[in-house]
Amino acid sequence: MLETEKEKVKKDAEALQLKMYINGEWKEASDQKTRDVINPATGAVIAEAPEGTAEDAQAAIAAAKATFESGVWSDLPATERAAYLLKIADKIDEKAEELTKLETMDNGKTLREAGYDVGDAAACFRYYAGMITQPDGHTYHVADPMQAMVVREPVGVCGLIVPWNYPLLMSVWKIAPALAAGNTIVFKPSEVTPVTPTKLLEIFEEVGLPAGVANMVMGAGPVVGNEIASHKDVDMVSFTGGTKTGKHIMKTAADTMKKVSLELGGKSPNIIFADSDFETAVDYALFGIYAGAGQVCSAGSRILVEESIYEKFLARFAERAKEIRVGDGSDSKTEMGPLVSQEHLDKVLSYIEIGKEEGARLLCGGERLISDGLDKGYFVAPTAFADTTQEMRIVQEEIFGPVVAIQPFKDEEEAIRLANDSDYGLAGAVFTVDGAKGLRVIKKLRAGITWINSYHPTYNEAPWGGYKQSGIGRSLGTFGLEEFQEVKQININLEVEPIGWFEK
Ligand code: NDP
Repeated sequence: MLETEKEKVKKDAEALQLKMYINGEWKEASDQKTRDVINPATGAVIAEAPEGTAEDAQAAIAAAKATFESGVWSDLPATERAAYLLKIADKIDEKAEELTKLETMDNGKTLREAGYDVGDAAACFRYYAGMITQPDGHTYHVADPMQAMVVREPVGVCGLIVPWNYPLLMSVWKIAPALAAGNTIVFKPSEVTPVTPTKLLEIFEEVGLPAGVANMVMGAGPVVGNEIASHKDVDMVSFTGGTKTGKHIMKTAADTMKKVSLELGGKSPNIIFADSDFETAVDYALFGIYAGAGQVCSAGSRILVEESIYEKFLARFAERAKEIRVGDGSDSKTEMGPLVSQEHLDKVLSYIEIGKEEGARLLCGGERLISDGLDKGYFVAPTAFADTTQEMRIVQEEIFGPVVAIQPFKDEEEAIRLANDSDYGLAGAVFTVDGAKGLRVIKKLRAGITWINSYHPTYNEAPWGGYKQSGIGRSLGTFGLEEFQEVKQININLEVEPIGWFEK
């Protein structure tokens, strides 16, 4: 976009002026640099965000460290920490409409999708508020006169780095358990989608969370994120994003031996047997790949269909995919929004070209959408390639857009082999009305999140994370809290007298 045109759109949109939140104060970047935040449906500048520096990250880390050591949060009784979390949840509910609209403007997802995210964010705070007040720890029967026990403690300063596909919800999946456990945090949203994360930090201020407990820095991953991953005063780094970045973070964190939790990409198989309920399987296959315009780590981006129903499935899938209403997510009739940025649009379009060059059969879509006023946004038609094979890049690499690879399989054994032939192991699903077969296949699947006769539902109660190169550790559930806790054994001598090991 030309500079003058850009300035005009910015003025028209009354761009929000975002700031970072460090030690209870709203701050610009130390060098005053900013970055435009774009609505991916219209190309309008909706906000200006600080382009934070390594010094800004250091200030946030210092605040988090001092606050942790002060005990103002970590020593608070769990019921009092829980009370803050419950107030945050109530505020999210109060502001649900505003948060939903902002999430749609910033990320592009539909109002319906954003609405679910906001509701889930409030529920996640409530869930961990409840969990942290429950009894934990263990005692052990060891040899007299000793008594051994284990207590759980906060890790300390937690660095939380999140992506752009669920700007609010991915932040909350980390922040809620980290705060519940008594940690202080240095949080970095994606530079592409910092709007609802900023609103969340405003809520923290409104409910009176003590200064320095939650700190937020913005800016480029290789600058601000890298400082968080490498700094010696950060005790843990919890990251969600691409596998390539995750590997880099793991290596960076190794120098200071930080605890590392990684939720990375996927190329998840959706296995459809001939005995499945046909319309249910087609419906969930569409939902599995095109929800969030395919920008979902667990997306069902490989569909494996039993040979006898393969052509029938392709025909029905393409027919339904062509009917999906693509447009600005803020229009309530829209069913699929744009991709998040120009850069990501270019990446997804390049994979569509790769699919064509590799000889896959283009079933539907395969192009950018620019008519009917979509030309300023980053829209791609729901795309499906059929007759794909294992060596194709569109089968092996994460595209992270509305592009699916569909291929046939002969029998159960082949379905499992194809499904597991991936560097990733995040999610997977099976469609069949044969309950035993469904469970048999799921048990063989090397993936952390699975469904039978369903795709996508996610629960605060259940652990979320991957096998293989899809990550290390789990979010949500009891596992999600334990990620943010250390375990300490305490051994108490009940007969206080010398051990007498060495003669006097
Ligand atoms: P990245 O992995 O690049 O970014 C995720 C987060 O990490 C962002 O906050 C980013 O900062 C930050 N980051 C980037 N580089 C570094 C670094 N060197 N050190 C520390 N932090 C860093 O993902 P993208 O957002 O660019 O998306 C790229 C691909 O990642 C997608 O195409 C998709 O394949 C995958 N992805 C997977 C997700 C999942 O949930 N599993 C979610 C999102 C993406 P910033 O962006 O601000 O520079």
